[in-house]
Amino acid sequence: MSSVEKKLILQADKTADKTEDKTKVNLLGYDLEHMKAFFTEMGEKSFRAVQLVKWIHQFGVDDFAQMSNISQVCRAKLEQIAIIKAPEIAMEKKSDDGTIKWLMRLEGGNSIETVFIPEDNRGTLCISSQVGCALDCGFCSTARQGFNRNLSSAEIIAQLWIANHRLNSYVAGSNKPKNGVKRVITNVVLMGMGEPLLNFDNVVAAVHLMLDDNAYGLSKRRVTISTAGVVPALNRLREECDVSLALSLHAPNDKIRDTIVPLNQKYPINELLAACHNYFHGDIKKKQFIIEYVMLAGVNDSEKNARELALLLNTTPCKINLIPFNPFPDSGYESSKMQTIIRFRDILQQSGYVTMIRKTRGEDIDAACGQLAGKVKDKSKRLRNVNEIT
Ligand code: SF4
Repeated sequence: MSSVEKKLILQADKTADKTEDKTKVNLLGYDLEHMKAFFTEMGEKSFRAVQLVKWIHQFGVDDFAQMSNISQVCRAKLEQIAIIKAPEIAMEKKSDDGTIKWLMRLEGGNSIETVFIPEDNRGTLCISSQVGCALDCGFCSTARQGFNRNLSSAEIIAQLWIANHRLNSYVAGSNKPKNGVKRVITNVVLMGMGEPLLNFDNVVAAVHLMLDDNAYGLSKRRVTISTAGVVPALNRLREECDVSLALSLHAPNDKIRDTIVPLNQKYPINELLAACHNYFHGDIKKKQFIIEYVMLAGVNDSEKNARELALLLNTTPCKINLIPFNPFPDSGYESSKMQTIIRFRDILQQSGYVTMIRKTRGEDIDAACGQLAGKVKDKSKRLRNVNEIT
């Protein structure tokens, strides 16, 4: 092995998947910039990076031998030092409503969940960014799993890569959906397990691939990062990758939010909304800003709360998603009645906000909002104190 190759291996992405062959670099999570650097280090021309990104992400190929426009010498070198490896699918479940959930097994015994939600005019993939979540929001089943670690960029983009493979096999094979819904991923939301902005660098690398025309070519309106409100990371995000944002607000004031989203004790609502304004300034037409609001009976769902929310957001161009709460054992919360949710929506609509009530999808396979659980080894890393968050 040449010294360049040894150096490459030493420089391997520290957060890349631990493959069976731990000496090899997993290229699945490399965005174009990292791929170019990789090939330059290898002594190859940087246009190889574009070719490789296309093979992996446009064509879904994980075998260097099939990459016919790359020279045999270069392919042989790649075989020695690199690998393209996604997690295994441990389980695939299909809901009566067409929703599909995958449990993906990671090295080290953890697993994560990814969900595809087909609709008439689009297909949304909801992906995870961490194994579990440390933020401990009271109404969230993922939070009950605790937190183990960040996903690598390879593990994040692998969810899109695998879902594409599986959905293409449905369309190509005899197992076509009965209702004729075209299973194509048009939107990606980072709303699965974890807080994406606490895994900033790996999320950004994966999002670059989602937006890259050489890879998935999604527009920034169709890629949404959902956050509970990590203010310093929001301030960085605009510089690094400029996509749509969903803010898990869930309360019209700090008193309520402090109790259901503990992160609010560190970054209160006024700081958070200021950071969101900064993120979008002058640019709201190119990206979407969604306010997420889970409806918890007797906690945040009164008419007074609706009016307070309308007032709070009155300088914020946004759409509001009201999410019926999906109860889970020992959650301590109940879902608001549908008539309460409709009244809440009507008040917001009368105040001029585009407000939707999210349809519950995939409930029969535990794939609905807040139901994703995966498997988290070592559940002890839950947030004890919000000041641990940087
Ligand atoms: S709601 Fe989101 S941020 Fe809060 S604990 Fe669940 S996964 Fe984490």
